Amino acid sequence: MIGQRDTVNGAHFGFTDRWGGVSAVPYEELNLGGAVGDDPGAVTANRELAAKSLGVDPARVVWMNQVHGADVAVADAPWGDRPVPRADAVVTAERGLPLAVLTADCVPVLLADPVAGVVAAAHAGRPGLVAGVVPAAVRAMTGLGADPARIVARTGPAVCGRCYEVPEEMRADVSAVVPAAYAETSWGTPALDVSAGVHAQLERLGVRERTQSPVCTRESTDHFSYRRDRTTGRLAGYVWLD
Ligand SMILES: [Zn+2]
Repeated sequence: MIGQRDTVNGAHFGFTDRWGGVSAVPYEELNLGGAVGDDPGAVTANRELAAKSLGVDPARVVWMNQVHGADVAVADAPWGDRPVPRADAVVTAERGLPLAVLTADCVPVLLADPVAGVVAAAHAGRPGLVAGVVPAAVRAMTGLGADPARIVARTGPAVCGRCYEVPEEMRADVSAVVPAAYAETSWGTPALDVSAGVHAQLERLGVRERTQSPVCTRESTDHFSYRRDRTTGRLAGYVWLD
């Protein structure tokens, strides 16, 4: 259910694994993504189960319509009847408003400045890394009063640099923008380490209180992996303030 969680000064961070939900194969069990072909009733039930496990109200969780871009949505309340915005990061200065990000190999990024009372969730795959979605999220937080020196950052389960094979030219293009993403697979071919790239971007912005999940989604049978399974579910990362 919740594979990893922690709390820092009233800021809560949680990442799901794939177990403890009601979805059938190939989305078994805790698929939280609504746009992957799973039964919508199962997704709703899973979102309720995950929220209860975290101790948050499922009706208040703020989701995004993720499109591999760098747009940041600002939330001051649950979307309710409003359309879910197309964005790959969401930020709020509201306490008790959980923000959520969906992934299956991409990097889920959770950020919180507990002093300013500002949190953000971001979805960073290869395009988002290059487009700078995480720096955009940090800038949006700063605009709401956060200080990068106080921001606590968590990145969740994602495909690792030893597994994410890409064409040589793609590695060259991405690492020209974010050198830390340069990697090689365990079988000796060009690769990208998106998590390392995200952490380098955060370091450069002055965000030093960071941890990175050791879990590789492609290698872990407890997690969904798009590159391994193609048709599969989505994991979620949640961040909120007391
Ligand atoms: Zn791996």
